[in-house]
Amino acid sequence: MKIFVAGGAGYVGSHCVRRLVAAGHEVTVYDNLSAGHRPAIDPKARFVEGDLADTAKLADVFQAGRFDAAMHFAALLNVGESVLEPLKYWQNNVAHTLNLLHCMQRHGVRRFIFSSSCAVYGVPEDVPIREDQPKNPINPYGNTKLAVEWMLEHSAAAWGLGAVALRYFNAAGAASDGTLGEDHDPEIHLIPIVLQVALGQRESVPIFGTDYPTPDGTCIRDYIHVDDLAEAHLLALESCTPGRAEAYNVGTGRGTSVLEIIAAAREVTGHAIPTLAVERRPGDPPMLFADAGRIRHALGWLPRHLELREIVASAWRWHSSHPGGYGT
Ligand code: UDP
Repeated sequence: MKIFVAGGAGYVGSHCVRRLVAAGHEVTVYDNLSAGHRPAIDPKARFVEGDLADTAKLADVFQAGRFDAAMHFAALLNVGESVLEPLKYWQNNVAHTLNLLHCMQRHGVRRFIFSSSCAVYGVPEDVPIREDQPKNPINPYGNTKLAVEWMLEHSAAAWGLGAVALRYFNAAGAASDGTLGEDHDPEIHLIPIVLQVALGQRESVPIFGTDYPTPDGTCIRDYIHVDDLAEAHLLALESCTPGRAEAYNVGTGRGTSVLEIIAAAREVTGHAIPTLAVERRPGDPPMLFADAGRIRHALGWLPRHLELREIVASAWRWHSSHPGGYGT
């Protein structure tokens, strides 16, 4: 298929582009490089530097591209920032997605894979989280993801869009050959921060809250390997049916605490990794992990990288060989 990929130079996007290319798809990456990295883009993909705000450029790319499908990874993802600057999030994550959907509608592109998030659930009533649980986001970031899911449902009903929203849990790890990985500025995610401490780039890992109602007092998340996420995108693409909007959790189904991540990183890196207990981070639910039964049954998706140490080791290969990220 000919696939338009917004945000294909970012962390999850670049791993997915590599997987799509390997599966024989013809990929056009559209990325403004505000958070993405040129070297992360698979050399077999075509690259257009562009912004989803630029509707004229988007229309030109769609006119020339004759795409069969679009994937959309281009979004802002800093929960704390979304609380402080909500309109920036509504603009980037919702208004720009609207531009893309308008363009798809005009050009008759009926398959859409969307990067959603477990943030749509807010503080879940129950774990593991099933897709039919209430959606009550607790921050603007989660609200923007849910708003796009609504647009997809309405578009499926009204003009025959086929859409799959993949609700990522915590994307983690890196390509097994160590050539792609996570490079955010500023870095806010736990595993890269832990590994930056191992590399001596930071003094200690701040642990955001040690008094949560969890077995060791720290937050529990579901860390899913980025290559397993990429596989889910490929399957979602194959299953995407015009007129239907689906949403799937993409997680391992296993919860891991902050302290367990740090312990795994100590084993993998052989470094002491000092920590510092600090205040809870506002808006952090104590426990999030997926019931991934729906995607398993519907698409036959199964995560392959279940071993926590293996996930952390893949991230370590990337960070230790690229201590300055893609600029190294
Ligand atoms: N976390 C932490 N220290 C950090 C960064 C994150 O204790 O420096 C915790 C955070 O509170 C959460 C977990 O690690 O419980 C994962 O956070 P991350 O930002 O990686 O992903 P999120 O779950 O927010 O999407």
